[in-house]
Amino acid sequence: MAMIVKARAKINLALDVFEKRPDGYHEVEMVMQSIELHDCLEFTPVPEGITILVENGDVPAGEDNLVHRAAKSISTYGGVRTGVEIRLKKAIPVAAGLGGGSTDAAVTLAALNKIWGLGLTLRELMLLGEQLGSDVPFCLMEGTALARGRGEKLESLPPCPPLGLVLVKPPFGVSTASVYRAYAPGKLEKKPHCRNMVEAIESRDPGAIARCLYNALEPVTFAMHPEVAAIKEKLLEAGALGVLMSGSGPTVFGLTGNLQDARTVAGRYQKLGGEQVLISQIWNSA
Ligand code: ATP
Repeated sequence: MAMIVKARAKINLALDVFEKRPDGYHEVEMVMQSIELHDCLEFTPVPEGITILVENGDVPAGEDNLVHRAAKSISTYGGVRTGVEIRLKKAIPVAAGLGGGSTDAAVTLAALNKIWGLGLTLRELMLLGEQLGSDVPFCLMEGTALARGRGEKLESLPPCPPLGLVLVKPPFGVSTASVYRAYAPGKLEKKPHCRNMVEAIESRDPGAIARCLYNALEPVTFAMHPEVAAIKEKLLEAGALGVLMSGSGPTVFGLTGNLQDARTVAGRYQKLGGEQVLISQIWNSA
């Protein structure tokens, strides 16, 4: 029997970057949020081997796919002797700052834990996930969360209201590693950006959430690709409540009060000469 699951993308509502650690990663603090936009993965148990079939999307099909790495990792950890065929249908733009690879890896760990009857706890899955990518533990947890460390230390937050989203992905990708390499920290004291965002989410006030959007990596990616800053300006002009680049970019999202407003803003954005957009919504399981 095949199992079909959705792998939801994430955005960062707030993202602060602090000192570089001895292991080469920067210490970060982020408010992470799952969104409706998702890839689909279909898992079919087979007698042996791990096979990935990529239906669409510009991602590697073989062992370099994060889905393959996730399957291999849990198979080894669980001492599994049978195999799986995984069909991946991408809808999340690649190298976009939307955590596409991380969420595919996360659902692969969770699905294979069930299919192979391994009985691993969420904690164990998160530890396996952490080795595949810093955002994988959040993608296993989903919803709204505060992330620290290199992104793997998570604290669940009250759900963010189901605001509308207009996502604009420029026609190029950005390597997360290159953005962090170019990041030059200012003063290293902890700033209250994430705390302010948590309070805004607790207030459930879309205007307050929009005012607290913050991403310390924006200046870095904007310097590499000035067109990303131009998208931000245009989305604000089109009437989004607030606009932010997600993760290391280059995707920019505009927040709106609801899905209908997102459609209206998207229409205005396109009249202003903007490129293709994706309309989505904040996602929470509750
Ligand atoms: P993040 O926001 O977590 O940094 P991202 O959205 O910027 O991630 P991804 O879409 O995860 O970036 O892609 C990063 C790289 O991983 C790409 O170069 C891509 O080729 C590779 N990759 C491997 N497997 C996958 C997958 N299943 N989906 C997307 N990218 C994958």
